[in-house]
Amino acid sequence: MLGPAILAASRSDKMRRIVSAAPVTKPVVTRFIPGETVDQVIPIVEELTRKGLEVTLDVVGEDITTVEQSYAARDAYLELIGRLKDLGLGEKAEMSVKLSMFGQALEGGHELALANVRPVVEAAAAIGTTVTLDAEDHTTLDSMFAIHEELRKDFPQTGCVIQAYLFRTEADARRLADAGSRVRIVKGAYKEPAEVAYQDKGEIDKAYVRILKTLMEGKGYPMIGSHDPRLIAIGQELARQAGRKPDEYEFQMLYGIRSEEHLRLAAEGHRMRVYTAYGTDWYGYFMRRLAEKPANLLFFLRSMITKN
Ligand SMILES: Cc1cc2nc3c(=O)[nH]c(=O)nc-3n(C[C@H](O)[C@H](O)[C@H](O)COP(=O)(O)OP(=O)(O)OC[C@H]3O[C@@H](n4cnc5c(N)ncnc54)[C@H](O)[C@@H]3O)c2cc1C
Repeated sequence: MLGPAILAASRSDKMRRIVSAAPVTKPVVTRFIPGETVDQVIPIVEELTRKGLEVTLDVVGEDITTVEQSYAARDAYLELIGRLKDLGLGEKAEMSVKLSMFGQALEGGHELALANVRPVVEAAAAIGTTVTLDAEDHTTLDSMFAIHEELRKDFPQTGCVIQAYLFRTEADARRLADAGSRVRIVKGAYKEPAEVAYQDKGEIDKAYVRILKTLMEGKGYPMIGSHDPRLIAIGQELARQAGRKPDEYEFQMLYGIRSEEHLRLAAEGHRMRVYTAYGTDWYGYFMRRLAEKPANLLFFLRSMITKN
């Protein structure tokens, strides 16, 4: 029951100020968000790619309130892509973006987010890589899928994320699989009401398997976003049944979570991509990681008590 409470706190400005300012927060945050600047994250990208892993980079930040912040988000990604180009890391590192950070929730936000994300997708294509649109809460998804479809007219390799906990997702998966898209399937990390989403973990896992089967049997490129050993084994089996070669799907996990499993899958010959978030506005991302595993919260609280 802690998970939903943490997710509710992830939208609270008061909690944001308290958690962000606590001196003990930093070391706990660093496990999941290994840097605040491009200079800090580039060595991490180099280290991961040296180990045979691929990367998707997320500049953290959401819930922005001004158009200027949306331009700053776009520019942060353009700076990152420039650095990847200089280092020749383009093909190993793609980008993950949250359209909320590109202005989606502001007035006229759909057009603003599309206008901001397009140059990022263009710059990524120019260095041989691509962009995946993350899935946020369910109210944002029609706009996200419309932007995805629009971007794919010029950049068909643009990816998107679908969330197994939402009732709508099986239909979305069929549409995207038919269209030959790159699609990351995840369980879902937001607090969603029972009218739109499964609440039971077992139901979510079953939906995940049904959706993954659709993606594997379809024409697109499935990206299996999960740390769940059972789903990873099922993913391998579904890929085998669908006759997919190792470069026709990939696994994805978050930086700082089950890192030994990243290396094991890569050593077995799978494509393994590590979702690596960086930046200063890490609060929302960090709280979702706490919500996924309440033991993380206990560790965090214990370090607060022992250090104070
Ligand atoms: C690459 C990637 C991209 C994602 N993108 C999105 C997105 O765009 N939109 C979205 O809604 N969600 C996204 N998520 C999050 C996702 O929805 C889940 O919340 C998250 O992956 C946890 O689910 P799980 O499949 O790992 O299974 P779980 O059953 O939650 O976890 C399985 C096991 O993994 C380990 N584990 C999982 N989470 C943690 C954690 N935080 N800390 C420590 N150990 C943990 C534990 O050992 C746990 O038992 C993404 C996840 C990944 C891996």
